[in-house]
Amino acid sequence: MLDRTGSLETMAPALAKLAAPRRLAYLRDALAGRIVFTHGFGVEGQLIFHWICEAGLDIDVVTFDTGRLFPETYELWAATEARYGRRIRAIYPNTGALERLVARQGIDGFYESKAAREACCAVRKTRPLDRALKGAAAWIAGLRADQNEVRRDGGLVGFDLARKLTKVNPLFDWTREQVLAETARLGVPINALHAQGFASIGCAPCTRAIAPGEPERNGRWWWEEGGHKECGLHLGRLSPDVPKTDLSGL
Ligand code: SF4
Repeated sequence: MLDRTGSLETMAPALAKLAAPRRLAYLRDALAGRIVFTHGFGVEGQLIFHWICEAGLDIDVVTFDTGRLFPETYELWAATEARYGRRIRAIYPNTGALERLVARQGIDGFYESKAAREACCAVRKTRPLDRALKGAAAWIAGLRADQNEVRRDGGLVGFDLARKLTKVNPLFDWTREQVLAETARLGVPINALHAQGFASIGCAPCTRAIAPGEPERNGRWWWEEGGHKECGLHLGRLSPDVPKTDLSGL
């Protein structure tokens, strides 16, 4: 058992040796204070949520209801709560900021420019994330190393510089195939859209299905050339690269 300092130096090598479900229990034992798991209803998140529920871990499970999610995602949210008998705490955008955003750039203004898209993601996702993580001892996310460079750089255990918070990705060293096989083995519910070619699923207007063999995050913000295919939730550790979008007035 750890002391409860929860230092990166102590946790990283210890977590690396453990099976993924045990990493969650270890983290809970290692740290005092609130641990937040941000759930986006992807396959990784569903598997992590299953493990949290199975072990009865005292972890604050939150999700960001952007208001633009697929109906299938809301259905999965309800089905998951019913299956596990546990509420997933919904975090909403600030109403005033959302009204000003839509007044400024329109309801689908995110298609017009990268700055408009980043403003929408900031109001609907990253600012609510900042609120959810305020005062937390650690943050659990479902990133995997093989998703893209940004996620690979996150590590199994990292430190979010912008939010000054330890971040743990218990599935960091898993492949998508392993995650899908384990969810199937355990009977964990997953989004019905996966069967229609959707791999990474976010907001409905910003997500499309991908072709077989395409990188899994290609279906996100597909109209934007290049870039990291990230909304900003997981860019905090790379804070110098966070886009300098004009959020004044929002
Ligand atoms: S993914 Fe699209 S709809 Fe969702 S917050 Fe970002 S820009 Fe807005």
